[in-house]
Amino acid sequence: MTGSGPVFQRIALLGIGLIGSSLARAFQKHGLGGHIAIYTRSPSTLDTARELEIGDSYTIDPKEAVKDADLVIFCVPMGAYSSVAKIVSPGLKPGCIVSDVGSTKQSAIDDIKPHLPDGVHLVPAHPVAGTADSGPEAGYAGLFQDHWCILTPEENADTQAVADVRNLWKKCGMMVEKMDARHHDHVLAITSHLPQLISYTIVGTVTDLQDDLKKEVTKFAAGGLRDFTRIAASDPVMWRDVCLKNKDAILDVLGRFTEDLTALQRAIRRGQAEVMHDSFTRTREIRRGVIEAKQDFIDVKTKDNE
Ligand code: NAP
Repeated sequence: MTGSGPVFQRIALLGIGLIGSSLARAFQKHGLGGHIAIYTRSPSTLDTARELEIGDSYTIDPKEAVKDADLVIFCVPMGAYSSVAKIVSPGLKPGCIVSDVGSTKQSAIDDIKPHLPDGVHLVPAHPVAGTADSGPEAGYAGLFQDHWCILTPEENADTQAVADVRNLWKKCGMMVEKMDARHHDHVLAITSHLPQLISYTIVGTVTDLQDDLKKEVTKFAAGGLRDFTRIAASDPVMWRDVCLKNKDAILDVLGRFTEDLTALQRAIRRGQAEVMHDSFTRTREIRRGVIEAKQDFIDVKTKDNE
């Protein structure tokens, strides 16, 4: 399925929050889905999606949304994958592709695959793009532009199905790479989950400070705390699920981090200037690598300038 026109004739989006609604908008903007069927759990979110006119049909019944769909994308929290997969699977059309956008990938396979009937293809995906906001109003078509999307199909996955999903994400503006699911989870534990958990912890420490000191801390936040507060304002449901679903990789990375932090604490206590200087110099190289890999961009394509 290449060339112009819809990549899929009928796409069902299960969940229409930040990611689902950004996808719906990107599909509309680039003409990628003939018909976009939207499912969400609550009538109020459904009304919002309908008012935003980001789909072609709207329902709170997931079975109705997936009927006749060529592509079904799970955009619900990962903790809901298994129960939603169980409900929709009997209604999936033979040959249909099932994908998702979840932040951890082995769990996506474990939670969805056992429910799928024969002849339905699973191609898990993780668009590595997001904001701290939630809900259908938060989405925008440019969210995915120039970010990575990681596909984690199993080795025996249908090659045409993988190519079609790759094509869809590329048309949404993403750079696409294929990876083993467990490897993805380990890499993301380092690049995404660890920084997120550190942010929650730092901002949590501030929250626990006495009230008078807290005011000063908030006032002078630009000194370094500000960026952590932005990250720590992210969706608690999503990050709870990330911790539950990627437990082993996260515990491994947190163990290494706490060892390194303890070593730094000891160096500070002992006044080991050289140890500190070496440590703070080594990290500059990572920064240079990030800049060279062009990962140092600020998301300028926000909903405000679309
Ligand atoms: P969101 O804005 O909170 O939207 C969640 C959607 O799922 C809503 O439609 C919500 O329905 C529905 N939902 C919530 N709980 C549900 C449940 N128990 N059963 C069925 N439906 C439920 O979430 P999001 O940020 O778009 O995240 C969705 C997925 O994208 C997650 O799997 C996350 O890992 C992944 N992801 C997120 C980001 C990010 O930065 N946010 C980035 C990459 C990937 P109602 O509103 O009707 O209740």
